[in-house]
Amino acid sequence: NADAAMYRAKEFGRDNFQFYAPEFNLSAHEKFVLQEELRNALARSEFALLYQPQVDLRSGRVFAVEALIRWNHPALGVVAPASFIPMAEETGLIVPIGDWALHEACRQNMAWQDAGLPPMTVCVNVSARQFRERNLVGRVVNALRDSGLEARYLELEVTESLIMQDIELAVATMNELQSLGVQISIDDFGTGYSSLSALKTFPVARLKIDKSFINDVADNENDQAVASAVISLGQKLNMRVIAEGVETDDQVAFLLKNNCDEMQGYHFSKPVSARDIEKLLNQKD
Ligand code: C2E
Ligand code: MG
Ligand code: MG
Ligand code: MG
Repeated sequence: NADAAMYRAKEFGRDNFQFYAPEFNLSAHEKFVLQEELRNALARSEFALLYQPQVDLRSGRVFAVEALIRWNHPALGVVAPASFIPMAEETGLIVPIGDWALHEACRQNMAWQDAGLPPMTVCVNVSARQFRERNLVGRVVNALRDSGLEARYLELEVTESLIMQDIELAVATMNELQSLGVQISIDDFGTGYSSLSALKTFPVARLKIDKSFINDVADNENDQAVASAVISLGQKLNMRVIAEGVETDDQVAFLLKNNCDEMQGYHFSKPVSARDIEKLLNQKD
């Protein structure tokens, strides 16, 4: 049909499907079709979560996994979040989709614990629109109650730019979440612009150094300066610091030398299914 043909025409590569990149001009009709499909995707159970381990750099222990959403589109196959989260944000669909992700991540983490895996934290990404919703805290409470997961095993990842949109509101919401026992981390740190004086007032457990600083950290002196500064800044503010997008031995060596706490990236594991997390953790002990 015509819509399937449109998708094929716009496909750039199997694992790299970008029909909603900003540089891509969708016609009003194309946009409409995608929005309708996105609107129906929840009811059709087309979303899934993959999980990527987060590892303690020194012990190698997996202490957390990050939940990363995928859209299993009937015609397109697996669609990465970069291709639909912006549209979900624009339309407000991110609110029910994000709520689904929160519930599913909590349910899965409880299921792992019930299966006898050592308890770990599940980290869920929260976007600006979700964070601005009045009842985010209520949604979190519901997800914990429905799953039976203890709050300390849930962490929400927010970005600097989200916090900076309205610092007072963000800090108030983060404080409420923290008083429930839920942890907060700042994602993609270094790419937004935090006011450093505000940073110390954030009830944040961890900073995630953005992978753009990690890519060339083995060779690039500027990236080394930024990465090591973020590591000491975070630690001086009593936060733990995790490096994102760690792929090579040289990057690991740099992070160890600079006393980084934790890492996440293809070096240890790509994002994988819940079942594969279970296999991976059973192998490692
Ligand atoms: P993020 O939260 O910064 O997630 C990290 C991204 O880096 C993920 O991309 C992950 O697959 C990728 N990654 C991890 N390790 C490596 C590595 O070693 N090398 C490389 N090249 N990439 C690595 P992904 O899964 O495509 O997610 C992209 C973004 O979409 C996320 O960035 C997050 O901002 C957003 N997102 C994902 N799931 C959700 C969700 O459930 N809700 C919301 N609101 N946003 C989500
Ligand atoms: Mg994240
Ligand atoms: Mg990130
Ligand atoms: Mg990122």
